[in-house]
Amino acid sequence: MHGNKYTPTTNADIHELGKAVLEYSEHRLKLDPVPLDTPRTLAELTESAGQTITPEGIGGPRAMDIFTEVLAPACLSTDHPRFLSFIPCAPSEAAAMFDLVVGASSIYAGSWLEGSGAVYAENQALRWVADLVGLPERAGGVFVPGGTVGNLSALVTARFEARVLAPEGVRPWRVAATEGAHSSIKSACDVMDAEYVPVPVDEQWRLTGENLRAVIEEKGPETFFAVVATSGTTNFGIIDDLASVAEVCAEYGIWFHVDGAYGGAGLAAPTVRDRFAGIERCDSFIVDPHKWLFAPFDCCALLYREPAKARAAHTQRAGYLDVLTDTDEWNPTDYSVGLTRRARGLPFWFSLATYGTDRYTAAIEHTLQVARFAAEEIKRRDELELIREPDLTVMVFRRIGWSSSDYYEWSDRLLAQEIAFVVPTTHDGETFARFAIVNPETSVDDIRDILDTMR
Ligand SMILES: *Cc1c(COP(=O)(O)O)cnc(C)c1O
Repeated sequence: MHGNKYTPTTNADIHELGKAVLEYSEHRLKLDPVPLDTPRTLAELTESAGQTITPEGIGGPRAMDIFTEVLAPACLSTDHPRFLSFIPCAPSEAAAMFDLVVGASSIYAGSWLEGSGAVYAENQALRWVADLVGLPERAGGVFVPGGTVGNLSALVTARFEARVLAPEGVRPWRVAATEGAHSSIKSACDVMDAEYVPVPVDEQWRLTGENLRAVIEEKGPETFFAVVATSGTTNFGIIDDLASVAEVCAEYGIWFHVDGAYGGAGLAAPTVRDRFAGIERCDSFIVDPHKWLFAPFDCCALLYREPAKARAAHTQRAGYLDVLTDTDEWNPTDYSVGLTRRARGLPFWFSLATYGTDRYTAAIEHTLQVARFAAEEIKRRDELELIREPDLTVMVFRRIGWSSSDYYEWSDRLLAQEIAFVVPTTHDGETFARFAIVNPETSVDDIRDILDTMR
């Protein structure tokens, strides 16, 4: 590539810029540990970075310097071993490096015609996930930007299918899920003008078939187009009772969607696999490789038992697209909201291909072990109290005697000192501490050191 007369870039420029970009990337990937970094204020960034976009351009080397010296240190490293907030992202080196290749390759991965090689590889990665779930050979799907778009796309398909099957004049509009379901389910309902119907949880805070049946009976089965179960809730890592939920969905003929955005990775770990029993009966499923499957951000695997149903719901039609839609080829874009797509599954594919799936299993099992250590350590310490035995690697706990502001002050202090990033959470109006462990670099010493700061 040699630019054009508007973006003149010579081979020498490419060499110089490429060296800077690759050197930075290699350096960043070799750092051990990476800096946690801290947020900066708008005033600080304005002062140090200033106006970077000018009519003449400041040139690549200068822009790279500003990024390296000012902008990057103002972004938290989500792959820091002590970044335990929200759900962290800890890409493997292979996955992170391959993101550079995807960027350099100008691949359009929405259609087989334009991106067959990329789509082929993405589909192998999706097949690995489908096998973990236990979906049939005909299952398939697409990599979308994240769990939010994955859930929305699955629900759009579910509603389309329900309205095809519903008797004349009936247009199902309800979705059943627990209060513990991710915020994106409620958001999808808002986008779709659907009604989110909360189902009470059992004594272990799970969605069960029994409670689901009661809600469905009360509201009328014909009004629902989907049930969403979660295999690893975001706040507590709870896996719903998928088998009994699957049974009730089958009984009433309602679409069964499983949101495994965070916890789905646990399917690859033999020590917890049985907790997912029943997942193989889902109609659709998501997992975010950018959470616990070591891919960089912008990666959610969305799978359907019957992809044809998704195609019916999502295919965009227009004269300029006929060349793509009038074929039997696999066009990823037909399975979700969105048309243009980057080959965002490729970094994940490259990582799987590089290390092999056994190493994935080992890495996930390791994070589970560190999480079990953390839970035991919390129970062992007098000043701490575990709120619920973790199903996976998220845990919520109380520091006895702390008020809500104590948690926030503690968290702010740890970040300001670049010790750790552990934001509090709330449940039923009470503030708690929370760890989400998905990074294989997070060690038992990290856990111990963070807990020591709560004495
Ligand atoms: C993170 C998460 C989502 C949303 O995924 P994004 O990739 O952030 O859009 C959905 N469901 C669950 C259970 C999650 O943990």
